[in-house]
Amino acid sequence: MKMNIKNGWPLAGNRPITDFLEKSLANGKVAHTYIFLGPKDLGKTAAAVFFAKCLLCQKQKIGVFSLACGACPSCRQMQNNPGADNGFETLHGDFHLLKKEAEKKNISIEQVREFIRILEMSSFMNSYKVGIIKEADDLSESAANALLKTLEEPRPKVVIILTAARLEKIPATIVSRSQVLNFLPVSNAVIYDYLINDLACPRVQAKNISRLSAGRPALAAKFFEDQEFYQSYLSKTETFLHFFKENLNERLSAVDKIAGGKEEENKVEAALDVLNVWQGLLRDLLLLNANNGDLIQHEPLRAMMDGLKNKLNGSRLLELNGLLRRGEKYLRANVNPKLVLENIAINI
Ligand SMILES: [Zn+2]
Repeated sequence: MKMNIKNGWPLAGNRPITDFLEKSLANGKVAHTYIFLGPKDLGKTAAAVFFAKCLLCQKQKIGVFSLACGACPSCRQMQNNPGADNGFETLHGDFHLLKKEAEKKNISIEQVREFIRILEMSSFMNSYKVGIIKEADDLSESAANALLKTLEEPRPKVVIILTAARLEKIPATIVSRSQVLNFLPVSNAVIYDYLINDLACPRVQAKNISRLSAGRPALAAKFFEDQEFYQSYLSKTETFLHFFKENLNERLSAVDKIAGGKEEENKVEAALDVLNVWQGLLRDLLLLNANNGDLIQHEPLRAMMDGLKNKLNGSRLLELNGLLRRGEKYLRANVNPKLVLENIAINI
């Protein structure tokens, strides 16, 4: 993600949180552990990395908040490692970012032990040491316990930031030792301004993308910067609209494409994401049905949705809404994701 946001933070919206963090830093009252909580794609990890960069900056003084200077040796080492695939890996010895390994179910106890070992070594630059655990909802039980031991005996100048979407998946014993900061979805207008002012996005595109990203600035940035991702998102989204023109076999094979592959834990999350997108489309169809087309989220798919107008009247749309809601309930109750999506494809 690009980092040239006006107020210094690589984050659109959520100003109360950045104000709070700036104040803590200026007063020298930094917590040992933070949980950056909120739905994905709000920019939590980018904000955590930037906060780490400010903490580690050698120009930082107690009593005044200043943004990371960008020029000291520490800031230079915090610049993205050009070889890294996720944009958040750095060469800084006092900074460590931990995330789940691809294709693994959880963040393992071995990974957490290594994370703690690195944080317990003395600082390279005689400053803070900062560790981030991305998507800490994925900590295995034993990994969470290992982390808890460290949180129970906090070391001075060691700061740990967990990012998470669901607080209930983190043990209460960890939550109670953390400063929880709630990241909220951002208004379309803020995302629109962010796209235009910070990313130099053309206006028409900014209008479409700001609506499509439904309150998630990091997703908006990705839509703008990665055309391939944008197109593939739209074509996945279209799948749902195709359902209304396809026969049962075609619908079931579409579900197979969505729910095939990947291992179990990720399948539930992936299916929830799919349902979420479908629910967004259904809201659009309801808005179009009520002649409120100005408010729809998926403007690029408008012509396709208009084409379905005679097939989908108000009561049919409400039925579909019930069908998707039941699907979500089953997924949250751990019913097999493929079965849930197939059930929707059959009853649509
Ligand atoms: Zn600096």
